[in-house]
Amino acid sequence: MILVTGGAGYIGSHTIKGLLDNGYDCAVADNLVYGHRGAVDPRAAFEQADLLDKDSLRHVFCKFRPEAVIHFAAFAYVGESVCLPQKYYRNNVIGTLNLLSVMREFSVEKIVFSSTCATYGEPQYLPIDEEHPQNPINPYGRTKLMIEQILSDYRQAYGLKYISLRYFNAAGAAADGSIGESHRPETHLIPLVLQAIKGERQSIKIFGSDYNTPDGTCIRDYIHVEDLAEAHCLALEKAGIFNGCLNLGTGKGSSVKEVVAAAEKASGLKCSLEYAPRRPGDPAQLWADNRKAKEVLGWHPRYTDINEIVRTAWNWEINRKF
Ligand code: UDP
Repeated sequence: MILVTGGAGYIGSHTIKGLLDNGYDCAVADNLVYGHRGAVDPRAAFEQADLLDKDSLRHVFCKFRPEAVIHFAAFAYVGESVCLPQKYYRNNVIGTLNLLSVMREFSVEKIVFSSTCATYGEPQYLPIDEEHPQNPINPYGRTKLMIEQILSDYRQAYGLKYISLRYFNAAGAAADGSIGESHRPETHLIPLVLQAIKGERQSIKIFGSDYNTPDGTCIRDYIHVEDLAEAHCLALEKAGIFNGCLNLGTGKGSSVKEVVAAAEKASGLKCSLEYAPRRPGDPAQLWADNRKAKEVLGWHPRYTDINEIVRTAWNWEINRKF
């Protein structure tokens, strides 16, 4: 049995589906603050539990006796983390310490952790490999870096088996249209563009068109959520053999304008755009060196074309269930 914290969230719910399709038994612990109960595959067991409540965590471990944990549960709004750092340090860092402590009580030795390229901060070179200096520029990124460091210390002291997966920009939706991205409030580029195309928003703002990039807009590495899900399944098998951090990205960047073009292509409709100033804290370009994840996990992202990725997101957006 694999316990998935935050399994009602965007990447968690796709990972559950991937795990179940690969023959694992899964249980989800989620406080449903941002997650959706309807995102959790009905084949998985579900328990509403908050990592800040250690007794309810113990109850979850008692009930499911997991052999490993995949840990997604976290607050992940960068802007909010700047205004409300206490909320983020408390939830993300203390929640993880509670989880690790209950794992030790129940002799659970293995964890796959949801980390982020936000731990790198402003890139000093591209593509970003795992050795790139980590200087996160917001509290959200700092909580994730602290947790990476906690896991490394627990490895040294207690023999914890762990892999931290540093995602670049998670994107897209399940190919069968059953689940997809649904944040409230939504801040991410692809769903915002698709919602503007659908007429649910008047327009979208392009944050900066004067960057030093070929078309002047920011470049990001959009990695399909099903490719992320697959990497988690593989990491479960490899944690303990390899312990450490791996980048998950396609290794290729797409600009904001290219994302908009992909959305217009997928939908056959135009998106109304506004040009706005740069968003503070946005680096001009980010993309991953993903060779280590490929080598360690035997992972190969299936979606390498932004048009295909956005097509799955559009397919979800027009039939969204939550
Ligand atoms: N972006 C934008 N308009 C929006 C939202 C995002 O131009 O309404 C840009 C943002 O500046 C960044 C890219 O789209 O370059 C991806 O942003 P997102 O918030 O989706 O992910 P992030 O890179 O911040 O994790």
